[in-house]
Amino acid sequence: MTVTRAFYHEFPDALVIETQVVDSRPGRVLLANSALFPGGGGQLPDRGLLKWASGETAVTGFEPSGEGMWHLLAREDAEVAGTVEVSVEPAFRELMRELHTATHILNAAVFQDFNGALVTGAQMSADGTARMDFDLPDADNDRLRALGPVLNDTIRQDLPVICTYVPMAEARQQYGLIRNQSVAPPPTADDQVRIVEIAGLDRQACGVRTWRPRGRHRRSGFSASPARAGTTAVSTSVWKDA
Ligand SMILES: [Zn+2]
Repeated sequence: MTVTRAFYHEFPDALVIETQVVDSRPGRVLLANSALFPGGGGQLPDRGLLKWASGETAVTGFEPSGEGMWHLLAREDAEVAGTVEVSVEPAFRELMRELHTATHILNAAVFQDFNGALVTGAQMSADGTARMDFDLPDADNDRLRALGPVLNDTIRQDLPVICTYVPMAEARQQYGLIRNQSVAPPPTADDQVRIVEIAGLDRQACGVRTWRPRGRHRRSGFSASPARAGTTAVSTSVWKDA
């Protein structure tokens, strides 16, 4: 079977799945399938738990290889085989999804208010903050700060988030759809690119991340604060109120 789309994209709400161990070495396993997002595009990897007939251990990291994604285990002595259960830590996944949605809203605002400025970097953190860098050589700091209330207002509107796929060739021809200056999202095996749309606000390619459904981010808050203004990049931070 050819997997054309990542499991966490096809089934974003499947937080616990049963699967088979394909290969194992001390402290690591290769699984037939996994619900865990291995990280990428600025979003941190999921935290997860692996359970088997006689034990369990935390999944502490991931290592891609030609055969698939190795799951690194907290217990190096674990002898894992056969059928296992993999589960995603829900709270951390939710935090990352919320931050990710926040970065798209921020990205939309900057793109619209600063003449199509492109993203040069993004990083979400476990402390509930995220940072995006934009190509804004002569950004006006006051104008950037003024984005804060606009972003909060957008969140309060609780717009639906919709994911679709379009052919890569088509995506390249649409202005603003592929917005990350350095890294275009990887196409699927059938050469499509994943598009994330925030209804009425923004549409952009987003290849590697998981998304939060609507109705959950009412407590979020944003603040945009420029750093390194006057250089080729401006950093902006986003955070979620407790
Ligand atoms: Zn994204």
